[in-house]
Amino acid sequence: MNVGEHIIELPRSVIVGSNITERFGEHFTRVFGSNHYVVVVTGSTVRTLVFPRVKEALEDSGVTVDAVTVKDASVETAERLVEELSADRVDVLIGLGGGRSIDLAKFSAHVLGLRWVSYPTVASHDGITSPFASLKGFEKPISRKAKMPDMIYIDVDIIMRAPRRYNIAGFGDLVGKFTSVRDWRLAHKLKGEYYGEYSASLALLSAKHVLSYYREIALGTLEGYRVLLEALVSSGVAMGIAGSTRPASGSEHLFAHALTIVAKNPPLHGEAVAVGTIMMGYLHGIKWREVRKRLRYVGAPTTAKELGVTPEDIVEALVLAARIRPERYTILGERGLTRSAAERLAKVTGVID
Ligand SMILES: [Zn+2]
Repeated sequence: MNVGEHIIELPRSVIVGSNITERFGEHFTRVFGSNHYVVVVTGSTVRTLVFPRVKEALEDSGVTVDAVTVKDASVETAERLVEELSADRVDVLIGLGGGRSIDLAKFSAHVLGLRWVSYPTVASHDGITSPFASLKGFEKPISRKAKMPDMIYIDVDIIMRAPRRYNIAGFGDLVGKFTSVRDWRLAHKLKGEYYGEYSASLALLSAKHVLSYYREIALGTLEGYRVLLEALVSSGVAMGIAGSTRPASGSEHLFAHALTIVAKNPPLHGEAVAVGTIMMGYLHGIKWREVRKRLRYVGAPTTAKELGVTPEDIVEALVLAARIRPERYTILGERGLTRSAAERLAKVTGVID
């Protein structure tokens, strides 16, 4: 990065509230103006359950709406989508759904230079609010710089009706900031890497915030969900301020990415991050037992068994982690863990027996 130039990307408008889908058209035209043609990128379930309401709200405000249903967030799907959209005269793209639809809309908006809206229906990870997209088929399972959403629109009522497992995964993704921020600081001290105190503090705050509201989040109260969502927004914004995923993604994410490569049935991203945070938290010397206790309390997985992977998968992912992204220096060091160190780490933290 050029030290003389630091670009901060922020969303223009963030709207979080209960039962606000019917008012989406009003908020949309306030930010983007009227007489637009928008395309909504969405999955089949959300297309049936939520899209009709979004479409109606937009049409009531004079916006023309089309939808594209996507099945996976692969590079091929993204390229096909870009080609399809470039033939149309689209003004604004909307990613409506979970990570998949949002990542595809984000990537396409970036390539086509379009404005876009992130409209999540689950709170499973902070990609819903960040400028980084992860697609399957990039040579490595890490995210790439794309485009910050111009608008983030979150109807808490919709999120609360999403499968609980996804929202708890969002809690796991946020808890990961306890170690990612420490990894960043370490890279700054040992490697002279750029470190942004402000964005690091903001990312850390989002982890502290959800950890202190763990009871409300476990109970699934409106307040708990609001805290979870605001923390996801803050974490995404921290990445926009840092200009990289550094504040939100460290050794716990390297482990999570490695696990998606080695495991036959990989868990949700945030679930793997939760378990990674326990182990990397041990290496960093933080209060990892307290983090584990609260993860258990909310019902997040904390062991290989609960993740649905084998003990061998955990050890292999730990060994592989440092090689996923060699330029990202973390507590794992340049060469990573040996097999015996990995096994010891997984055992001492109770992830494997
Ligand atoms: Zn993440």
